[in-house]
Amino acid sequence: MHNENQPLIFELSKSGRVGYSLPELDVEEVSLEEVIPSDYLRTEDADLPEVSELDIMRHYTALSRRNHGVDSGFYPLGSCTMKYNPKINENVARIAGFAHVHPLQEEETAQGAMELLFDLQEHLKEITGMDEVTLQPAAGAHGEWTGLMMIRAYHEANGDFNRTKVIVPDSAHGTNPASATVAGLETITVKSDENGLVDLEDLKRVVDSDVAALMLTNPNTLGLFEQHILEMASIIHDAGGKLYYDGANLNAVLSKARPGDMGFDVVHLNLHKTFTGPHGGGGPGSGPVGVKEDLIPYLPKPVLVKTDTGYHFDYNRPQSIGRVKPFYGNFGINVRAYTYIRSMGPDGLKAVTEYAVLNANYMMRRLEPFYDLPYKQHCKHEFVLSGRRQKKLGVRTLDIAKRLLDFGYHPPTIYFPLNVEEAIMIEPTETESKETLDEFINIMIQIAKEAEENPEIVQEAPHYTVVKRLDETTAARKPILRFEKQ
Ligand SMILES: *Cc1c(COP(=O)(O)O)cnc(C)c1O
Repeated sequence: MHNENQPLIFELSKSGRVGYSLPELDVEEVSLEEVIPSDYLRTEDADLPEVSELDIMRHYTALSRRNHGVDSGFYPLGSCTMKYNPKINENVARIAGFAHVHPLQEEETAQGAMELLFDLQEHLKEITGMDEVTLQPAAGAHGEWTGLMMIRAYHEANGDFNRTKVIVPDSAHGTNPASATVAGLETITVKSDENGLVDLEDLKRVVDSDVAALMLTNPNTLGLFEQHILEMASIIHDAGGKLYYDGANLNAVLSKARPGDMGFDVVHLNLHKTFTGPHGGGGPGSGPVGVKEDLIPYLPKPVLVKTDTGYHFDYNRPQSIGRVKPFYGNFGINVRAYTYIRSMGPDGLKAVTEYAVLNANYMMRRLEPFYDLPYKQHCKHEFVLSGRRQKKLGVRTLDIAKRLLDFGYHPPTIYFPLNVEEAIMIEPTETESKETLDEFINIMIQIAKEAEENPEIVQEAPHYTVVKRLDETTAARKPILRFEKQ
């Protein structure tokens, strides 16, 4: 990487240098004291860097080149779907009518934006096989919590106040038990069997009249499709519970299978994963929730409806769990997802799944001779290797991840899921070419060989990055917040 010694912006600073030029003042000058109460005024000048426009331009451009994103390199982060974000989405989201619409505008003046949202809901209903969809939740975990609050409201409306347990398999995404807790429910864990799937006997053992719901991540965090969903659905429904589908990773089943047809009562989607919204870094997400008929009364309000007089927000929902997000979700992300669905069309969305699954299986089988593969069956959109063979050679999964940085890759997810020793969880995504997959596979093979022949090179990686190996504990506990002037 070039520009090893990129100075801090404060080090570039030269007293009196400015990055702007303003015309002569042509109105009467007003002193700050006249407009701002003195209590709020600084007593000393703020310590800001003083640089020219060109200096600052180059500074941030250089910094941006050190960043890793989907647009700059392969990013096989399992459980997160870091796939390419088509630029047509950005063009559409920037159309003035969408970009400048104000959330407090009168409904009559925002009919086009509301039509887009309504239409998106209709597409998501079709895609998931559900009866109604809300676009309010801002992320996947937020959707989970919203869905569980609806399930809770449903049971309480039936006088079922003792349904407080949510069954979550140990192969679920980590947000599932967290959402159950935040929704005021108790999590009961069911074990996986030797194939990495929910153990039906263990499930039967924990199901009782106090079950509110089963939350299923499908494919589970091992990237495996749960084989016994219909049995699980009848076990839970017979006990009076509801079925929740964590559909964050819908690119594994999109256009092939629908949660609604499998017996699920609630599903959330991650538009910032499957439907190409950019994410990461805590940016805006969108976690729509779809429900079956008997949960519709509990949807967050307002509900976006279409009537003879156009699109409206319906607040007259006496059984609603209430509002879960200001306004109506993250509009910009919803515009991007809508653009994606419309530009792909039904055949395109089917190809998404086929390539996501093909790419993951191709990579898994090519890496299988070099890394341990704890679960041997075909995977869906992602797979989990174990670095235990390399660990015996003194090379940990963390070292392998660091070594990948030397080759310009964002490492996969590591040490998750917890039930796999030295886990390496890879999601290639459907948007990568075979050449990109092959290059990454070859580097992974090279690292496995290095672990055998020259382990230090892996243990001491990265060697070619701007910042070498960090002491992660100190970096987390004592982040350097700013440069102190000498
Ligand atoms: C990413 C993910 C979530 C959580 O989504 P956020 O938008 O990060 O809150 C939940 N479940 C699964 C399976 C996921 O992959």
